[in-house]
Amino acid sequence: MLPSQKTIGIIGGGQLGKMLMEAGKPWNLKYHILDTADAPASALASKHIVGGLMDADKILELASECDVITYEIEHIHLGVLKELEAKGKIIIPSPKILEIIQDKGLQKLFFKQHNIPTTDFELAENQSEWTDKLQKLKGDKVAAKLRKGGYDGKGVELIVKKDILEDYNKIPFSESVVLEEFVENAIELSVIVARNSKGEICTFPTVEMEFDPKANLVEFLFSPANIDSKIEEKAKNIAKECILKMQGIGVFAVEMFLDKNNEIFVNEIAPRPHNSGHHTIEACYTSQYEQLNRILIDLPLGNTDLICPSAMLNLLGAEDVNGAYEITGLDTILSLKGVYIHLYNKSITKPKRKMGHITVLGESIEEVKQKAAKIKAVQGMKQL
Ligand code: ADP
Repeated sequence: MLPSQKTIGIIGGGQLGKMLMEAGKPWNLKYHILDTADAPASALASKHIVGGLMDADKILELASECDVITYEIEHIHLGVLKELEAKGKIIIPSPKILEIIQDKGLQKLFFKQHNIPTTDFELAENQSEWTDKLQKLKGDKVAAKLRKGGYDGKGVELIVKKDILEDYNKIPFSESVVLEEFVENAIELSVIVARNSKGEICTFPTVEMEFDPKANLVEFLFSPANIDSKIEEKAKNIAKECILKMQGIGVFAVEMFLDKNNEIFVNEIAPRPHNSGHHTIEACYTSQYEQLNRILIDLPLGNTDLICPSAMLNLLGAEDVNGAYEITGLDTILSLKGVYIHLYNKSITKPKRKMGHITVLGESIEEVKQKAAKIKAVQGMKQL
């Protein structure tokens, strides 16, 4: 079978699915998606099965029509994927990996068991366990994370230990959590790793993320990261090690913290293309999306070098706009050289929702940073 005759099934039809399909257009790849009726990726799919991501029957329907299944979001029905894999269906990445990643507690235990550097942590089943567990951790602050269901910073609270030890009413979660030591003034890095079924593995150049402290979402992202080449090498090796230990096949984003002593701690892994890899569409010879397509249809990995320095800005829903909207400032932005706008085809906005992104290319990282700051200053959103 020619690779282009294979049908790829994607669970989820958001922006990541949309960009995966856009990357497959030159090869005429065919995709079926499963998501709700308003899914951004709908128009690009050969077939759209309308349904929820936890609907086992719909996942079975998708699998029955497709040669290979992938997913663009972690919060999906795990049990049915495990059954399908046991019956021989190719699911990339394996649900065995998804099972670890869906639970931040299992993920931390996995890192510890495989000597992957990560911050010290404790698991608390319920609120009565918090005091004991907090006292076992070093430092004044702790990151408390719901083991399951969190995303984009939701389900994560950065807390001062003393506040909780003095007043239990301040415990932010009643469910099972990971409590982990806080990395002060961390530089947040991401390394995207791709590995195919033949065992070929490669990394994309390291990305440095700059967060919006209020939204707890990535605001700017730069590649190359402003770090020493030895540290970059170390980050890439750690990221590869994570995926090798998981025997992962697919595209994975390994998010890390770099502290002031140049120590690296793995924060978490996403088993899919990632926000921190959007820039690869224009900035790298092979994008994270093309790389996943190659893996899904069993082609060799592509070269991941940066063509030039780049930045990425998320276009987030404005705080005061809900519903129908217009993104403003695009005329000025489009007059700049080396700027690429991606809009996610979402008809409705809400505060902080990811509505699109802009990639900026330039000859130097300074030029890229200047252009990114200019874009940030003129870009806005209007209520319609
Ligand atoms: P999510 O899966 O929702 O993205 P993360 O675990 O990545 O959640 O946490 C969200 C953000 O909170 C991180 O990007 C980082 O800014 C901050 N954070 C999380 N854990 C720590 C930690 N141990 N030390 C310092 N900052 C942290």
